[in-house]
Formats: sequence, structure tokens, C-alpha cells
Amino acid sequence: MDKFDVLKKYFGYAAFREGQEILIDSIIKGRDVLGIMPTGAGKSICYQVPALLLSGITIVISPLISLMKDQVQTLNQAGIHAAYINSSLSESQISKALRLAAAGQYKIIYAAPERLETYEFLSFAKQAEISMLTVDEAHCISQWGQDFRPSYLKIVQFIRQLEKRPVISAFTATATENVKEDILCVLGLTEPEILVTGFDRKNLYFAVEKPKRKDTYVIKYVKEHVSESGIIYCATRKNVDKVYEKLCQEGISAARYHAGLSGGERRQNQEDFIYDTCPVMVATNAFGMGIDKSNVRYVLHYNMPQSLENYYQEAGRAGRDGGRAECILLYSPQDVVVNRFLLDSKEQNTEYTAEENEAVRGRDEERLRKMTYYCMTTGCLRTYILHYFGEKGSLPCGNCLNCIREYEETDLTETAKHILSCVAEVRERYGVNVIAGMLAGDDRAKLREYGLFAYRTYGILKPLKETEIKEIIQQMVIENLLFQTNDKYALLKIGEEAGKIMEDDTRFIMKKTKEEPEKEKRTSAGKGSSANRRRSDILNSRGLELFEQLRDLRTTIAKEQNMPPYIIFADKTLIDMCIKVPMSKKEMLKVVGVGESKFDRYGERFLDAIGEYTGGVREKFFFGEEEEL
Ligand code: ADP
Ligand code: ZN
Repeated sequence: MDKFDVLKKYFGYAAFREGQEILIDSIIKGRDVLGIMPTGAGKSICYQVPALLLSGITIVISPLISLMKDQVQTLNQAGIHAAYINSSLSESQISKALRLAAAGQYKIIYAAPERLETYEFLSFAKQAEISMLTVDEAHCISQWGQDFRPSYLKIVQFIRQLEKRPVISAFTATATENVKEDILCVLGLTEPEILVTGFDRKNLYFAVEKPKRKDTYVIKYVKEHVSESGIIYCATRKNVDKVYEKLCQEGISAARYHAGLSGGERRQNQEDFIYDTCPVMVATNAFGMGIDKSNVRYVLHYNMPQSLENYYQEAGRAGRDGGRAECILLYSPQDVVVNRFLLDSKEQNTEYTAEENEAVRGRDEERLRKMTYYCMTTGCLRTYILHYFGEKGSLPCGNCLNCIREYEETDLTETAKHILSCVAEVRERYGVNVIAGMLAGDDRAKLREYGLFAYRTYGILKPLKETEIKEIIQQMVIENLLFQTNDKYALLKIGEEAGKIMEDDTRFIMKKTKEEPEKEKRTSAGKGSSANRRRSDILNSRGLELFEQLRDLRTTIAKEQNMPPYIIFADKTLIDMCIKVPMSKKEMLKVVGVGESKFDRYGERFLDAIGEYTGGVREKFFFGEEEEL
């Protein structure tokens, strides 16, 4: 068997995704690798496929106990012998698992890092043939990151104790240079193949909405997406409870999650969500670490998070199966006030000096500001995110609200020049309130006191109102014509791009929303790839009906097996069944996500369901041309 056979037979996929092959080939040749890929890119395949091709056992180190179980269930379903060893098992279960492992029962073993130094585990590892050691969530080894886990340092000692050094593969979604260097250095990777794939998640649609009433928006949205799975993130427990109750009143089956609930209740609610008993989850950011639910179709943010790092991570829980999903942030100016309050009341780290605490605070401010600009920008939202994470490229994406909405454009180059002159004239010593007041020719005592009436630019934008000027300044900050300092004074300074406006003939264009985008526009945006289309755009009404039948069957099987439905088959597999309408084993094996083992387990039942629905007569259940999912 080669890597393609493995991919098809066990995972039911016809082709590798970007980057997967390079890493797999290197591992098979015995070369260490570091894969830096965003959530949902398919990191698991990168070590699971070679694990099956190498002669010995692969040990996967992962910090997330809940994820291990999920991964192992998925592998077992695919017909791969795998097990996990962590503190959720009893001592005797662990001993049994290790006995079976020593007897060569498992190809892949997941373990928490703490396991590595136990006597039992070490003695197993020393006498077994360990072909590869995989470090998942490898950024946990870095003291630079937020997720540093001291136990990850034990990995290195563990490797040293093995007789033969296995090939080491490390994976993470965190891409900062410091973290990368740490992983390479601490893990001691030798001449590794390093692969960084883009952070873009093409199947995610991004939008910032500013509804008058967020509750009304949420209820309408959830009702329009009934039977789809989604997460609604709120900033506070109070909001979670409020939104949760509203949804329940509307008869929507929702679950909630926050640190104020008992452990038992949290576990139950999480299960209800994962097993699709409650398709909607309302939660604080405490929810999500280690959740691998792949068919989340939308993530709504009821409040703006504190940083784009947080936002992208939370929003990124949508669409892990590669199908179209929506990430919508509901913004109100109040969100900024609440976040600033949270920052103000954040406890200072007593191990830091006052100066260091000041620096941390400055960084938090900066992050919050950049998050706020995301909500303000009229440019492509995806481009904004990617730039923030240091990726180049600036083409409008065509799959975010700002790219498809229509704007009224006004050339404000001259106004922008006046604003820049004003900031320069006062030698960058004031914040946005003073500057806007000054330009508007405001008669405030404070401005008089500062002696600003005497400046040339005082009142130069007079017919404009102060609020209008503030809006323009805001947009200039977003476009780097101006920048704001990170201290509490938030002084306005001349930005990097200002030269372009002052010297070259670049124009400064302000865009204002014209109207809400029409539905048609949204759905046609990002066309071309089915990943960007909703189920209802792909399947016609008969097809959707078949999909519902297949989904019911999946739910029944999931209940029988006590397994989350998405581990049985992903949504995209069910959709592909509706497109290909398989009538035989051979045809069923062509469906994306149906490998041999999955077929042996469930194939006949799904064939029966399809046969029953169609009466054995092939129909076309989808719009448009046949295409690969
Ligand atoms: P990550 O760990 O990078 O967040 P996963 O390994 O969980 O991502 O993969 C995300 C989803 O993509 C899973 O549902 C997985 O089965 C699917 N996937 C991975 N590789 C492929 C592929 N080559 N073809 C189709 N689907 C894939
Ligand atoms: Zn865009």
C-alpha cells in the first residue's frame, strides 16, 4: 500500500490537501517535520497516514484529553487500531492498554505528556518499536505562547531514553516566529521539513453586523438555520444566560456553557451539543478548547472579543469539515466600553515590574484597538485578518460581507490632508477628541486653554461636524495614514502611509454602506468551489429531503453506537451521497469520506436508505454540474 491507498481505504478521501503530501513524504523518508497549519487544515492526516505506513508504533502526544477520545474513536471507525492513555482511564485500564500495546495491538497511541515519565509507559516504550513520535499542539512547548505546558518539556527527556530515536513530527496552528523557534530548538528537530500553509480558511464567510437589537438578530438567524449546528459566543455569563433563555422561549433547542455552571451540567450540555441533541450552543469563551465537532455551520459573536487572536480561534471552530460556514460578529460601540473595563479590572501580574505590567497593558490595548478596527473597516475582512497575522496579499476575497456589500464612495483626499497637517502642526501631542474639536473650530474652553485657537488648522474643516471628522480619523487610522499610541492618552501621530497622500497622488476614499446585500449576491459570492456553498444551494428540494433521511439514519446509528454523529459520517459525506446517489458498493466507495472500513460498518444501511427513497431509480438531486466536493 502507498499513501494514496491508505488515504482512500481508511479515510475515504481521493486527494491530499495543500501541504499534506510534503510532510507525509518527509516522514516516510525518516526526516523530522514541523507543520504549521490553521485549524481544520487537516493536520491529523499528516501523521496518521505515515503512521500506517511505518513499520512500528506511532505515539502521539496531545494535551487535550477530550480530543484524544474523539481522535481514537474516529480512527477505530476507520478501521485503524488505536488507543489513548491518559488520566481519564483507571490504573487497571492503563495497564491493560499498555499490555495490548506491547503485544502490537495498536498502530497509533495517544498519550498525555505526563504519561511519558511514568515507569510503566517508559518500560513499554523502551521495548517496543517506536517509529514516530508526534507532538500535537506543539506550541505548548514554548514559554512564549499563552498555552505553555511545563509537562511538554518531558517529551525531550522521554526521547533520550529510547534506544533508537524515532522520527519526530510536530504540529501546531500557532505561527509566530518565537514559538516556531522554540519548537525547533526545544524539541531538537534535526534538519526538519518545515511547512507553513496559509492561514486563510476559504470556506468561512466573514461578516460584521451592527443590528439595532442583537437578540432579534440572533433569533432570526438561528431560525433561518434551523437544524444546522452553531455556536453563539457571549462576553459574559449574564449574556449567555440571557440569550439562552430567549432561544428557549422561542422553542429552539439550545444548550449553554460557562464557568458558573456545575461540572456535571457543563459536561451534559457539551454532550448534547456534540451529539446534535441540541444543535445550538450559547457559551462564553470557556467553551471550545478540545472540541472537535466538525459540522459547526456558524459561529455568531454576540459581543466583540478582546483580540483578533481570540476571534479567529473561536470563529475558526466553524466549518472544520471544509464545508461552507459563517462567522458573524455582532458589533455595538458598547462592546468597546465593556472590553476596556475588563482590561482595566484585569489583575496585574505580581511577578512583573510596574514597567512590564505597563507593557502588557499596552499590548492588550493595541489588540483591542485592532479588533475594534476590524469591526469598523470597510475593506475586505479576510484580508484584514490575514494581514493581522502577518500574511501578505490584498485581493478582495469575494466571500465576506464587505466584499459583497455596496458602498457609496466619497473622495476625501483634501480633508485627509487637512487632518494630517493639523496633527503635524500640533506636533502629535493630542488625541482624537482635541484634534476633531480643533478641526471643527469648536469653542471649548479646553482648546482655548491649550492655545489651539491660534493654529492655522483651527476650524479648517468647519462645515463638518465633530462626529463626522472623528469617523474620518478612524478610517485614516485603519488605513495607517494616522496611528494612535498605545498608552492611555492615545495620541494621534502621523502614520506610515501618510506620505502617499501628501506627496503622491494616492486618493483617500471613504466608503459608506449603501444597502444590505441581497441574498442572491451572498450566495453567488465565492462560487466555484462547493465548499463555499450552503447545502440548500447545492441540493434541490428532493435532494434536501434525502439528506434529511440520511441524517436521521446517522442519528439513529450514532445513538446505537454511543458516538457523535460526525464521527459516523461528516455532513459533506451525506451531501455527496445525495449528489452521487450510489446504488452499489463500488459507487458508495466513490463518495468522499467513505473508506472500506466505514463501508463495512454502515454502507449497506445507507445504500438501503437511498434505495428506499429513490425506489432504485436514479434522479438528479442537485443544482448545476456534477462536481467534486
Ligand atoms: P486540524 O487538526 O488541522 O484542525 P483535522 O485534522 O481535524 O484538522 O481535519 C479537519 C477536517 O478535514 C477533518 O474532517 C478531516 O477528515 C478533513 N480532511 C483532512 N484531510 C483531508 C483530505 N485530504 N481530503 C478531504 N478531507 C480531509
Ligand atoms: Zn472579503
